[in-house]
Amino acid sequence: MTAPNIRSPRIRIADMTWYEFADRVKDNPIVFLPTGSVEQHGPHLPLLTDVILPVAVAEAVAGEVGGMVAPPVTYGYKSQPKSGGGNHFPGTLSLDANVFIALVRNIINELARHGVRKVVLFDGHMENQWFLVEAADLALRDQRAEGVHDLKIIKLGYWEFITKQTEKELFPDGMPSWELEHAAVMETSVMMHLRPDLVRVDLIPDHPPAVFPPYDIYPFDTRPIPPSGVLSSAKPATAGKGETVMRQVVPDIAASLLDAFGPLMSK
Ligand SMILES: [Zn+2]
Repeated sequence: MTAPNIRSPRIRIADMTWYEFADRVKDNPIVFLPTGSVEQHGPHLPLLTDVILPVAVAEAVAGEVGGMVAPPVTYGYKSQPKSGGGNHFPGTLSLDANVFIALVRNIINELARHGVRKVVLFDGHMENQWFLVEAADLALRDQRAEGVHDLKIIKLGYWEFITKQTEKELFPDGMPSWELEHAAVMETSVMMHLRPDLVRVDLIPDHPPAVFPPYDIYPFDTRPIPPSGVLSSAKPATAGKGETVMRQVVPDIAASLLDAFGPLMSK
C-alpha cells in the first residue's frame, strides 16, 4: 500500500490517519511515548495527573521538534509510600512490573516495526523508571535480533529538567525533595495552569512534609503517610508557578533531545 503525499501538522498519533502517520514516519521524527499511572493525587488533583502532565509537556516539546506523541501508557507500576503515597489508596490502579515492562517493550517494538527510530519514553510517574530502563533494554535486544541497529531510545522524567532558578521560584523557602513533591507544589501548580477545571482548589492540603525511616517495610507501614495522600504541603501552588515550569522545561527538553538525537532530517 502506498500513501498519498499528505503533509500532516498533527502532533497526536491518535488523531492521525494511517496515511498521515506513514507520511510523517518517513522524516524519522522523534516519537514520544508518555508513561504515567492511575494514582491518587490527594483530595485536590485527579487520578490521571501523572498522565495529563507528561502528555501536555510531551505535546509542547513535540511541537518544537517536529515530533509526534503516541497514545500514552495510562497505567503504571505500583505507587510507593515515599514517592506516591502507596498503593493502598482507593482509585490507585497499578500494574505488576512484568506487565508494565512487557507493555512498553511491545509498544516500542511496534513503533520500530513501522520505521520509528527515535523514541522518547516520557515519564510522569517516578515508580516507572527502572521498568522503563528494562523495557528499553529488551526492545533494543529484540530489534538487534531483527537486524535493526539504528533505534535510539531516550528515557526522561520532565521534572528532572527543572532548573535551580525555577526551583527557587517554586519554593522560595526551600524544597523538601522531589520524592515528597507528590501531588504537592509542582504538580498542583502545573495542573492549575493547564487544567484548572480539574483542580479542587478548596481542598488543597496544607500539612508538614512526611517523615519516613531510611528503610522500607513490606507490607507497607502506612503510619508515616499523611492521610491526604499528599507528601508535603501543596498550599504554595499557583497557576503562575505552573506556567513558569512549562515555559522553562519545554524549550530545555526540546534542545536536549535535538542534541541527543542529532540533527533532524527535515522539519
Ligand atoms: Zn504525580
